[in-house]
Amino acid sequence: MPKTTGLTRDQLRRLRDAFAGEIVTPRDDGYDEARRLWNAMHDRRPAVVVRPGTSSEVATAIRFAREHDLELAVRSGGHSASGHSGTDGGLVVDLSRMRGVAVDPSARTARANGGALLGELDVAAQAHGLVCPIGVIGHTGVAGLTLGGGVGRLQRRFGLTIDNLRAVELVTADGRLVRASETEEPELFWGIRGAGWNFGIVTAFELGLHPFGPELHRGVRIYPASAARAVWEVFREYAADAPDRVSMIYSIAPGAHGADASASAAGEPVVLVSFNHSGRADEVERDTAGLRQGPEPVSVTAVSQPYLEAQTAHDLVLGWGRRFFIAGLYANDVRPEAIDELVEHAASAPADGSFSVTAQGGAIARVDEDAMAFAGRAARFDLSADARWDDPADDDRYRAWVRRAMEVVEPEAIEGRYVNENADAGPAETRAIYGDAKVARLARLKRAWDPDNVFRLNHNVAPAGDDHSG
Ligand SMILES: Cc1cc2nc3c(=O)[nH]c(=O)nc-3n(C[C@H](O)[C@H](O)[C@H](O)COP(=O)(O)OP(=O)(O)OC[C@H]3O[C@@H](n4cnc5c(N)ncnc54)[C@H](O)[C@@H]3O)c2cc1C
Repeated sequence: MPKTTGLTRDQLRRLRDAFAGEIVTPRDDGYDEARRLWNAMHDRRPAVVVRPGTSSEVATAIRFAREHDLELAVRSGGHSASGHSGTDGGLVVDLSRMRGVAVDPSARTARANGGALLGELDVAAQAHGLVCPIGVIGHTGVAGLTLGGGVGRLQRRFGLTIDNLRAVELVTADGRLVRASETEEPELFWGIRGAGWNFGIVTAFELGLHPFGPELHRGVRIYPASAARAVWEVFREYAADAPDRVSMIYSIAPGAHGADASASAAGEPVVLVSFNHSGRADEVERDTAGLRQGPEPVSVTAVSQPYLEAQTAHDLVLGWGRRFFIAGLYANDVRPEAIDELVEHAASAPADGSFSVTAQGGAIARVDEDAMAFAGRAARFDLSADARWDDPADDDRYRAWVRRAMEVVEPEAIEGRYVNENADAGPAETRAIYGDAKVARLARLKRAWDPDNVFRLNHNVAPAGDDHSG
């Protein structure tokens, strides 16, 4: 086991003098739990983990890290695919003591603290018959998801999570508490919505809510791999003018993929088409008729269930402790030959691996591309591949599997990538995610708010950028 470099006795004394929150060092019993990340690929050993309870404690932690030249990691839900919420030898600001969501039903807004989890926001909003469009797993952090964009079951109807973000409060690199919204520090607010981790530690999110629920209507149709091309044709036609209240995903997965085993002869890959319908029960049949065209499925399931049940249905399956890799890109179509190749490629996927096409459009596409740092709104589809496994010996194999799936569809890539579904991180990835013009604008913001790149454990925008525009 690698040795962990801790703080010196003197440093620790100074931290205890200055910081009123919890402090966990490698000598403490809770250290292994405190340093653990959702993705077991990232086994980080920080010198210290601090748990602030207030914005001013967050500021103290930032100052301490800077004064002692400690790499600073920020952690809310701990779900970063890249392991960005951990550090070797640095200081982790763990926001788990800053959970909690308060809803104002008359204003239809929620205030989520910086360490809140999605499940808290869902429960608090649904208690008033309201909802914020967020992600699909309850234990994901509101912070990491929102600062990157926020996609899920209701976005075609209500927009991305950032489209519903009214304001944030954040502690900046120089320890100031700043409020950003459309009218307060609007340029910073532009950058927060898509590249938010670069500018500070967000201690509160103010989000707009919509009347909704309590039921969500869902369906899954499973087809044999031989139908992959024909089903894709049906899917892409349907997605072109589907109602906003329907979200839909086309996936190619190995046969054992939680699907009805009878769908795949002798381990053959399968094709899954799943939808979520957020309207009335009596609209579902008519609204999804287009998805029922084409080949006969081997299995069909449909259910109407409480939204909160849907939002936690996969919380255990996608629980902590497994190894994970993901990559994605935006496209307006997928060539039939690519579908064939992906079917072939699925045969060597891990049992929990798949290639997916998520339809965008609806409210996502109605926001102007330049309105926020988030890039790729006009794309018709989000293409991604992901894999989960347990044995470290499989790391190279399954990362290569995901990357190969993306190579197959690279010819259809258009500008932009969804930052939260790309585990690889570096200057080239940042450029692919935001595009050159947005990287230049973000680099200017970074120079204004974090010139020393204190917040660099993320899909980082370097202050120098490659921005020669001044
Ligand atoms: C099981 C699972 C399901 C997912 N489902 C969805 C989904 O449905 N929709 C979707 O859009 N994405 C989804 N994601 C991706 C998810 O949005 C990102 O992994 C996101 O970064 C997780 O946020 P977190 O707070 O849990 O992560 P963390 O690992 O805690 O943080 C992620 C990044 O945000 C920074 N950060 C964290 N908190 C703050 C803060 N308060 N202020 C500033 N920076 C901060 C960290 O430094 C790090 O760079 C999913 C990921 C997983 C693992």
